[in-house]
Amino acid sequence: MEKRNFENDLRECILCEHRCGVDRTCGELGVCRMAGPAVASRTLHPAPPESYTIFVAGCNLKCLGCQNWTISQYPDNCMAVEGYVDPRLLAVESISMLESPAGARMGADRIFFSGGEPTIHLPFIESVIAEARRFRPGLKVNYDTNGFMTEKSLMRVLAFTTSMTFDIKAYYDDTMRAIAGTSVEPVLRNAEIVGRTARDKLWEYRIVAIPEINEDDIKPLCRFLASISRELPVAFLAFRPNFVLDEHCGAQREFIRTCVEQAKAAGLKNVTYAGMTNIPGNTGTLRGEVKEAYERPGARLAASYAHSKGCSTHPRDCGACRSASNCPIKKYIPYRNC
Ligand code: SF4
Ligand code: SF4
Repeated sequence: MEKRNFENDLRECILCEHRCGVDRTCGELGVCRMAGPAVASRTLHPAPPESYTIFVAGCNLKCLGCQNWTISQYPDNCMAVEGYVDPRLLAVESISMLESPAGARMGADRIFFSGGEPTIHLPFIESVIAEARRFRPGLKVNYDTNGFMTEKSLMRVLAFTTSMTFDIKAYYDDTMRAIAGTSVEPVLRNAEIVGRTARDKLWEYRIVAIPEINEDDIKPLCRFLASISRELPVAFLAFRPNFVLDEHCGAQREFIRTCVEQAKAAGLKNVTYAGMTNIPGNTGTLRGEVKEAYERPGARLAASYAHSKGCSTHPRDCGACRSASNCPIKKYIPYRNC
């Protein structure tokens, strides 16, 4: 893989579907609010696929239930991250950790890029991989993404990645806007491209099942994925109260069972689930006047949580929001993380 000068891509940044066009090299900030690349943390990680995981800082989405909010909403939440790490250093360290006794015991066999959203630092990640493959040409890589990238960025990712863990948060646009502040169309488009043209690289689609919020999305989403291929791997993750949804209830065991049944009824053959269930919390109460902006009850409920924490643009559209440089959601500190 060609070694890139990763600053070139940041001069008029269109790495993700926000297509901000800002010059990040001179400090202009787009929706992700990140100038240069930054690493939040890195560690050997036992969750499949076992790996040396590099969590990058920052994200292009503002998902209300983000479990990694300390990382994803950096820098506006003022949490500490490691910062810039030289790609060659990161590459050498990754290989040495994979080859260490602890890495071997764990069965760690790849570098796993997560975040936050790796796509906002895509050229940096390409540089790390190019350096790492100079030492180990066949080195495996996993790319963990929210899917909100341009097709061009997706092609770049598919050119280097061995496996992909691909989050899909919703099927309906207003649910996605309420949960994440963006349109769902590019995510479904990219999910379909991966499912049709790069099935061998797909580790799994991951769907966080949030009670009362994306419940109505599960069935059509499963049908959509099954229409691409019934063999596609899908994992449901039980929502745990977090970030702006800190008061909301966790996913009930029964709800997760229903998700799995709906996926199988849609024809999907490769369905799993994970995560802690039945964490108590609130249900069903709207916290703000957002009704007219959203068609579905689940979207209204999610948006009302955002409204109660200061998000005043509805339907949520972080790419066009005038408050983006002073977003109250990015600064929100939850009272609990489950
Ligand atoms: S949000 Fe996306 S397009 Fe905008 S600056 Fe960040 S990476 Fe670039
Ligand atoms: S205030 Fe604006 S930028 Fe912040 S989450 Fe709401 S819509 Fe997005």
